Amino acid sequence: MSQLRVDSRFGGVGVVDHLRAQLPADRVITDPDLLENHRRDEADLVADGLPLVLVRPRSTAEVATAVRVAAEHGVPVVPQGARTGLAGGANAVDGCLVLSLQRMDRILKIDPVNRIAVVQPGVVNADLGRAVREHGLFYPPDPGSFETSTIGGNTATNAGGMCCVKYGVTTGYVIGLEVVLADGEVLRTGRRTPKGVAGYDLTSLFVGSEGTLGIITEITVALRPAPEPALSLVAVFPTTATAGAAVNEIMASGAAPSLLELLDDVHLRAIEAYRPMGLDTNAAAILLAAADTGARAAADLAAIEELARASGATEVYTATDAEEAAALLAARRLAHPAMEHLAHGLYAQGGLILDDIAVPRSALAELLDGIAATAAKHGVVVGVVGHAGDGNLHPNIVVDRADPESVRKGHLVFDEIMELGLSLGGTCTGEHGVGLLKRGWLETEAGPVGMRVQRAIKAALDPTGLLNPGKVL
Ligand SMILES: Cc1cc2nc3c(=O)[nH]c(=O)nc-3n(C[C@H](O)[C@H](O)[C@H](O)COP(=O)(O)OP(=O)(O)OC[C@H]3O[C@@H](n4cnc5c(N)ncnc54)[C@H](O)[C@@H]3O)c2cc1C
Repeated sequence: MSQLRVDSRFGGVGVVDHLRAQLPADRVITDPDLLENHRRDEADLVADGLPLVLVRPRSTAEVATAVRVAAEHGVPVVPQGARTGLAGGANAVDGCLVLSLQRMDRILKIDPVNRIAVVQPGVVNADLGRAVREHGLFYPPDPGSFETSTIGGNTATNAGGMCCVKYGVTTGYVIGLEVVLADGEVLRTGRRTPKGVAGYDLTSLFVGSEGTLGIITEITVALRPAPEPALSLVAVFPTTATAGAAVNEIMASGAAPSLLELLDDVHLRAIEAYRPMGLDTNAAAILLAAADTGARAAADLAAIEELARASGATEVYTATDAEEAAALLAARRLAHPAMEHLAHGLYAQGGLILDDIAVPRSALAELLDGIAATAAKHGVVVGVVGHAGDGNLHPNIVVDRADPESVRKGHLVFDEIMELGLSLGGTCTGEHGVGLLKRGWLETEAGPVGMRVQRAIKAALDPTGLLNPGKVL
């Protein structure tokens, strides 16, 4: 009980008692183990705090109540989905109210005529994908965390994924939102129609806002007809930069791969050590490519193979059936746990600093060379994986958390990669968001005028700064 904040303005009634008085009993949780479990997301080496209380609402009205009570008591609110975020965006601050949206997990509507779905924020990405497939429809954004991350979290981070090279990222699919504002009022944005341009595009403003402008309580997404099952290939390269150059050739040719992913040698070895998948650990890098164009897929893939070989691929293996294609994709999805495994193998307290740089595709080879040079200069292990077709790479920097010098060097490498990426015309985050990890880099990227406008938007929507404080800005 010592954690409970008591505010004299409410006659000694603390925020927790106030929440309990206004919400069903099971929604308001102060169990210390659960509070501890909700401290942070998946980002390593970023600050977190101990929540005062965890609220698990079941409806928009309950979210509005929790936000209103928190605002009355001046308690910060940190929204959380599945906490798979990789930038510390969902990390609690000491004494906050963590608002977990995971229990608002109903698919409210699938409308095949209008090709939309309406969902609560806690719906898991893969569950929505499976549900719309039954109607012959497709919700494309597919982050690597698709089996666990929520559509609310995906919307709040504007998540990307593997098929985004062909189909685009979350913002291309979110057409309407319901949002609980900082004072507890409920805002509806957007449309349910294929077209609509009424007023400022508030929907896009909330997509990628990382819980700092409002709590997303309902999402209307556009759907597409389901594509044909994809055929895929692996191209093996003698250097990462030749793999980057191949990406340029493939995209310049007018090809439309439904997946174009890069894994470097550090990842290939890490995945094989973690779970043997038959990957070529002697390669400097591989590209995974897929085509989902039905009867044309084999020919489309053959054209990609030719371009990969012309760019220097030493071997190209084509998956002969859907099972092999799925195995290739499964290997790619192991990248994150495999790198964690590698870090723990190297150091008892191994950790990863995750970068998320995106550059114009034409600068990919230069970025890859630069990352390798930076890693070598500082003697730090850096593995590179990423959505190469989008110019979006995740350099995973391995550090010894027990050694301050190792952590310092890791941050130095992180900063040098950021600097290089921005100098190449890139952005400090392609899809993970700014969170806590890249706040300084947002300032560099946006510049003083950009930051003034961003801060004005935050001040307009959250004047007391209680929504996810310290994140993004
Ligand atoms: C193995 C692995 C692979 C990944 N692969 C990808 C990938 O390919 N592409 C990609 O983009 N990301 C990827 N990620 C990162 C992460 O999964 C995404 O950022 C995802 O969108 C987060 O969803 P979540 O439900 O876990 O949200 P959280 O991590 O819980 O929250 C993320 C952010 O959204 C805010 N938020 C959550 N819900 C709401 C809401 N309802 N209203 C307002 N704000 C909210 C939080 O405050 C936080 O700022 C990966 C992560 C892992 C662990």
